[in-house]
Amino acid sequence: MNPAEIIIELRSIAKHYMMGSEGFCALNGIDLDIYLNDYIAIVGSSGSGKSTLMNLLGCLDYPTDGEYRLKGTNVATLDENSLAGIRNREIGFIFQNFNLLPRASALQNVMQPLIYRGVPIDERKQRAQEALSMVGLQDRMDHVPNQLSGGQRQRVAIARALVTKPAILLADEPTGNLDSHNAKVISSMLIDLATSRGKTVLVASHDPKVVEQFPRVYHMRDGAVQQVT
Ligand code: ADP
Ligand code: MG
Repeated sequence: MNPAEIIIELRSIAKHYMMGSEGFCALNGIDLDIYLNDYIAIVGSSGSGKSTLMNLLGCLDYPTDGEYRLKGTNVATLDENSLAGIRNREIGFIFQNFNLLPRASALQNVMQPLIYRGVPIDERKQRAQEALSMVGLQDRMDHVPNQLSGGQRQRVAIARALVTKPAILLADEPTGNLDSHNAKVISSMLIDLATSRGKTVLVASHDPKVVEQFPRVYHMRDGAVQQVT
């Protein structure tokens, strides 16, 4: 077996926000190594810095200090265009509120990220159909979001994250708007994307029922990872 390949390395990552004249330290010296195919839960109470960390990992924001290597590239020093390029190639996002276009069908929602990439329409459609089948929604492709349950909407959002074939999936409170049954379905699906599809999956959540499904858990408190279990 090959030694595990490192995909994300954080070294002494800090994030400070300015609030008026006051500084606030949302992340305070984070060191993390994440390997290809890892599936990890990040837990912590509200305000502990989970979303700030996920946004940095997702190349949506820059750290104030420290080093972030994504597949060997120090992304903390890239300009915004290069950062957006890496984000588009490597990362798929899943959010608490699904963020679907309300008037577009499931299929159109999943095709959306491929429009920006200039993928021709036939291929867009085929890849979106494949991604929706992967999340078990082959029978719901023509439904608009309000014709779908919460769990199904989140599955559309997962398909949309998968359609660009990213190496890394980042899910920030993906089950926050779901009942406990659907929360389990969604977290099992995210885990399966690591174990069966080779994705690297990071889930930030404060829901113990979600977290208990993950073999490795990073516990955050006051902007620091306090414990790994
Ligand atoms: P969590 O996702 O764990 O609830 P967040 O990462 O959203 O935590 O927030 C961590 C801390 O950083 C909170 O105290 C929050 O108020 C603060 N914070 C987050 N984003 C901003 C921002 N854009 N400006 C100022 N403070 C922020
Ligand atoms: Mg959050």
